[in-house]
Amino acid sequence: MPTIRRLPEALVNRIAAGEVVERPSAALKELVENSVDAGATRIAVKLVDGGLTRIEVTDDGCGMDPTTMEIALERHATSKLPDELIGEEQAIERVATLGFRGEALPSIASVSRFTLESRPHDAAEGWRRVVDHGLLVEEGPAALPPGTRARIEQVFAKVPARRKFLRTPRSEYAACLDVIRRLAMARPDIGFTLDHGERRTLSVQPDENLPDRVAQIVARELKDNGVLLNMQRGEMTLTGVAGLPTYNRGVADHQYLFVNGRPVKDRLLVGAVRGAYSDMLARDRHAVLALFLDLPSEDVDVNVHPAKTEVRFRDAAAVRGFIVSGLRQALSTGDRRSAQTPDAGAMTRWQQEPVREEVSPALRSIFEGRDWSGPSAGVRETSREWHAYEGEVMAAPQGRAVEAEEVATEPQDYPLGIARGQVANTYIVAEAKDGLVLVDQHAAHERLVLERLKAAGAGEAVARSQALLLPEVVEMDEPACDRLEESADKLDAMGLSIERFGPGAMLVRSLPHALAGSDPHKLLQDIADDLAKHGDALWLEEKLDLVLGTMACHGSVRAGRVLRVDEMNALLREMERTPRSGQCNHGRPTWVKLSMEDVEKLFGRH
Ligand code: ADP
Ligand code: MG
Repeated sequence: MPTIRRLPEALVNRIAAGEVVERPSAALKELVENSVDAGATRIAVKLVDGGLTRIEVTDDGCGMDPTTMEIALERHATSKLPDELIGEEQAIERVATLGFRGEALPSIASVSRFTLESRPHDAAEGWRRVVDHGLLVEEGPAALPPGTRARIEQVFAKVPARRKFLRTPRSEYAACLDVIRRLAMARPDIGFTLDHGERRTLSVQPDENLPDRVAQIVARELKDNGVLLNMQRGEMTLTGVAGLPTYNRGVADHQYLFVNGRPVKDRLLVGAVRGAYSDMLARDRHAVLALFLDLPSEDVDVNVHPAKTEVRFRDAAAVRGFIVSGLRQALSTGDRRSAQTPDAGAMTRWQQEPVREEVSPALRSIFEGRDWSGPSAGVRETSREWHAYEGEVMAAPQGRAVEAEEVATEPQDYPLGIARGQVANTYIVAEAKDGLVLVDQHAAHERLVLERLKAAGAGEAVARSQALLLPEVVEMDEPACDRLEESADKLDAMGLSIERFGPGAMLVRSLPHALAGSDPHKLLQDIADDLAKHGDALWLEEKLDLVLGTMACHGSVRAGRVLRVDEMNALLREMERTPRSGQCNHGRPTWVKLSMEDVEKLFGRH
């Protein structure tokens, strides 16, 4: 029989270190979290070579006496489980501090030269302990202000297997900066500084409010290009700042997510954010936001992974639903507002202003009377209004003859103004009371068609589809047919009714009302492509959102089509009524406004 042996303590620590401190930024995170837990009001971080040479964290927190320091460096020693919870199994579900495992310091000290200096506020002097790869090498008095200073040097120097995997100082620095940004956002009450070598790369003062802190850290423009969140559902709350869809980025790095004050990078939450923005952003663009989800600690398990960036929710679907609808609701109140592309020099004079303030009384009642209790509530409302206008211009993208809406000639009645003409057969020029409005007709209409398709999905079956006189057979390859068949029920709910027609063909029985007249072959092919492209990466709902986007593109007026004045006006009115119509399905603005004042300035009249 093989002999069974206990692993030596130093080896256990080193194995744990593999999980807890897989790279310098992870060690930095542990140190800063300890400072936060210690009640610090200011935390100063210094890095040399991205943390590869040195990481130093100084705080003005409660500090430790020499005995506490010794225990702190022992495995599974923590001061953070309240006495009454010790021995209780649920104890770790109820802790409010960031740390609680008591494994960070011994792990770090087992793979580096670790210097811990600390001084409690009531002590005359501090104390220092230096542990080199698990061995105590120095101990004695130290001069420092009240608080704690922890220094990591020569990380993984004696663990070549790990050293090999470290990246360049530049990429380790980027990871460290990300850690500090997230923690600084989670705690606007604490001041943070970050020095990299000789350079101060981040500095925020204590006692800031959340929107200011987020804007300081992400980008100043976010303040003008975001909406504040503050929602409650049951015992969950969602706060933070969400960037308008038009204020987007090519990478997802600027999505900061927090659960009960902890920075997390959780797949479920990332998916929920993508879902909320899915029909307002192009696929390769990403929203910018800082979201803080708070919920009772028994409803979430933060103990899934030692680095604690993944969490597990008791009711994942409820969390997801809350985030998706919360975000969409918040973005809807931004209504037709959309962000100015910051780098568009040509647009410096053209601004997109929130027009809600100037909304006419009639329109205001529409906005304010709306029940925004869910993402589709507003849309449904819109659809009801839509039906009142049925037979009107916008229902006829193919150019059917239509009745003109009774058009007021006084521009002040309408936030987006009265159409005065068309430029390049692509842009509508309108006159509003306070300025000149330019609308991208295709982008705007595509957006409206999308909202209508969604409204139809939630509405009456009769209203949403138009049966084909002769069902059409569309031949496609087998996997494409399989995918479509799989989603047939959901597509049916949107008014597209299809059936399998042998191994390599589909039968189309009806098209969504909004897409009457589209080519079923192209439509089905595009939908199948959409479904394939997103494979298993997205939930079916999200995939279908994207499908809707594709469908909307099929059903909307092209750039280059001549519009009559009454058609243009109907489009403007529909935009005013439709939530989220300020950006197209790819996150670009659908309209811009040049104020009268600026027009006058252009001509030196001001
Ligand atoms: P945990 O944070 O999970 O408790 P750590 O190994 O990170 O475990 O820290 C062990 C203990 O050391 C903490 O519980 C705390 O009592 C003490 N400690 C660590 N860092 C600090 C600090 N900066 N200020 C005061 N106490 C600290
Ligand atoms: Mg800790």
